Amino acid sequence: MPVLVMKFGGTSVANTDRIRRAAKRVGVEVAKGYDVIVIVSAMAGKTNELVGWVGEISPLHDAREYDAVVSSGENVTAGLMALVLQEMDIPARSWQGWQVPLRTNSAHSAARIEEIPTDNITAKFAEGMRVAVVAGFQGISPEGRITTLGRGGSDTTAVAFAAAFDAERCDIYTDVDGVYTTDPRISDKARKLDRIAFEEMLELASLGAKVLQTRSVELAMRYNVKLRVLSSFEEPSDEAGTLVCAEEEIMESNVVSGIAYSREEAKMTLVSVADRPGIAAAIFGPLAEAGVNVDMIIQNIAEEGRTDMTFSCPTDQVKRAEKALSEAKAAGHINYHDLIADTEVAKVSAVGIGMRSQSGVAAKMFKTLSDEGINIKVIATSEIKISVLIDRKYMELAVQALHDAFGLDKAA
Ligand code: ADP
Ligand code: ASP
Ligand code: MG
Repeated sequence: MPVLVMKFGGTSVANTDRIRRAAKRVGVEVAKGYDVIVIVSAMAGKTNELVGWVGEISPLHDAREYDAVVSSGENVTAGLMALVLQEMDIPARSWQGWQVPLRTNSAHSAARIEEIPTDNITAKFAEGMRVAVVAGFQGISPEGRITTLGRGGSDTTAVAFAAAFDAERCDIYTDVDGVYTTDPRISDKARKLDRIAFEEMLELASLGAKVLQTRSVELAMRYNVKLRVLSSFEEPSDEAGTLVCAEEEIMESNVVSGIAYSREEAKMTLVSVADRPGIAAAIFGPLAEAGVNVDMIIQNIAEEGRTDMTFSCPTDQVKRAEKALSEAKAAGHINYHDLIADTEVAKVSAVGIGMRSQSGVAAKMFKTLSDEGINIKVIATSEIKISVLIDRKYMELAVQALHDAFGLDKAA
């Protein structure tokens, strides 16, 4: 029988009523003849609560224990979902990551999936089981420890299962009815897209649109998984939601197809570092080793052999970055006069594959921000995106102004 993967995010399983509602939707697909793999998230707010407890007890915690704690939310929903399905007379059972086993590497709290053996679940389908409920977000390391895939990781679990089981489709049920031109919580003019190209979705996700975890889009693109985002609160139909697909499957699109933002960014400046070969490596090597995700980088023009180096990273990594840099300074590997952290910045980005063939997008973006009196602190571009770092207090304004300027409320 064909396999379908259905993933339910936190708000879609926030309480027992919602789990029943999600299970009903699973029942509809089972009735159509699918063997269904259901991937569940923790109930809404649960993972945040668990992360909070870990941080309260141990700010610089052992990542293995962090994973042991924060993975637990999904176990509860998986069991409850299997029970609800059984109550509906649908043969179902739950699996935790280690039972599949979903094998990952040892990068705790940001583990990458290495292998999903299918024999165990396939054998159960052959025996008449109709739904395998799998706890999302978690796996097992080569050392036999529980790992997690990073926040939002259940999306990645879902796509990885769809690839491993050669599923007909991977449906991501969430609290919005698809992928929008920007976060509908920020702009009421945001428009739902019927289709979006993998490359664009990948950029939007990595630039902050948390509707899909970045890695899930990467996997869907690599294995050509038919990926759909839709609401668990609206009546389903074949046309519902947004299909994330290959560029060739999209007829018309705007030059810019979406605006993404990332609120929790920090800008760090090393004042007066020696301008010599190897200085960038001496700065960014220790940051990488400390697990700091450096994003944008600017090196100023040198004066009298010294220069300023600025980079951005998530705000919750500032402490780690400061520690790594001060240790490198104490060891004599780098020398700077001051380290200034601006933790009140946000990143706003415009994304679109149309940018490849159309010039002037950057100019329009800068003009729009300047008309709003918003100062740009750092700029980064790639073939299909332009990102700027601005004061956080202007973030919503910037998103709305850019959405208007690029005419995103209207279809191409
Ligand atoms: P889930 O718990 O179902 O995984 P998430 O909260 O992770 O849901 O992702 C859904 C949220 O993503 C939406 O509520 C919305 O606020 C946010 N979001 C950000 N950017 C976009 C976008 N471009 N399109 C749709 N939703 C977006
Ligand atoms: N529960 C995890 C989180 O909140 C994983 C997920 O929901 O995708 O990040
Ligand atoms: Mg999510």
